Amino acid sequence: MKLHFPHGQNYDCVQCGRSCSFYGTVPVESRVAEQLSDHPLGLRVAASHGSAFYKREDGSLSMHMVSPQEPTCVFLTEQKLCDIHAELGARAKPITCQQYPFQFTRTPDGLFIGASFFCTSIRQNSGRPMLEHSLELLELLPQAIISQVPDPIPLDEHNSIGWGEYRRLESRFHQLELDQACAELAHEHGLQPLLEVAEFSALKLLLSLPPDADAAFASGAALQIPGSDWQGSWPDLQQARNHAYDRVLEAWARMYMHRKLLTLHRPLRHNLWSLILIPRLLRLTSALWPHQGQFWTSLEQAEILIGSRGRAIDPLATQFSRFLGGL
Ligand code: SF4
Repeated sequence: MKLHFPHGQNYDCVQCGRSCSFYGTVPVESRVAEQLSDHPLGLRVAASHGSAFYKREDGSLSMHMVSPQEPTCVFLTEQKLCDIHAELGARAKPITCQQYPFQFTRTPDGLFIGASFFCTSIRQNSGRPMLEHSLELLELLPQAIISQVPDPIPLDEHNSIGWGEYRRLESRFHQLELDQACAELAHEHGLQPLLEVAEFSALKLLLSLPPDADAAFASGAALQIPGSDWQGSWPDLQQARNHAYDRVLEAWARMYMHRKLLTLHRPLRHNLWSLILIPRLLRLTSALWPHQGQFWTSLEQAEILIGSRGRAIDPLATQFSRFLGGL
């Protein structure tokens, strides 16, 4: 099978422990739980944290976290290393952990290997070219978690396109600068009339702005932004967009396309909202909070809410699409 790696992306784990200290669910296969159930490491962790694994409502297991306030995997050591890896080897870990930060998407042209921007090394683009990880990834492949590009690819509730047409869209995207590519996609898919309202709605959601923010948006009055000293109206904020992180946003968007996220989880036109809105939102939030740490926090929040697997993109995208359909 042909493997495709993103151009110019490097990776080697810098052992920051970040991916193990992030609130989320890491599924645990039964072989992992069985191996640890009577192993001294499993017993030690269960004794100090009450449990090594967490049983979900459907009966499946996930990694136990230290506490809701400290969402850190109970197997992460103070040196930010994985105890399962150290004592039992890499293959003893759950598949999600073995695979992280790589993400696989199967397509008619082969397997595209992408990576998560939650990972410090991916953000820093540090280490060896991703291609140099081919051997370990091939070993992992038989058990890997792999997304599959649908055939045909739904565009919306009524229309779809084939893989060839999608590839033309993607290669056009890669020929252009990010803003130009997004503007062209928004134009082609009729999203433009709602772009500003969509951007404001997504910002409101991301920053939990109070309900009266809508009136300030409509009238051009000053916005109240909790936790920020910035003052001004919505037009002022748009003028103040911070472009300091444009190179990161460009890399984020290239990775989004490499992973074929436009084709996964929901119709392509719904996914377009994530691709187009996230860079715009990040320029706004980095005008409000210019320091780099906050930029990454905002990117994570934006992905959690309106990214490819975001919990708020479905209702938002459906609402926007319905509105556009009625124009
Ligand atoms: S976030 Fe990335 S660099 Fe940090 S520990 Fe996880 S895989 Fe390694």
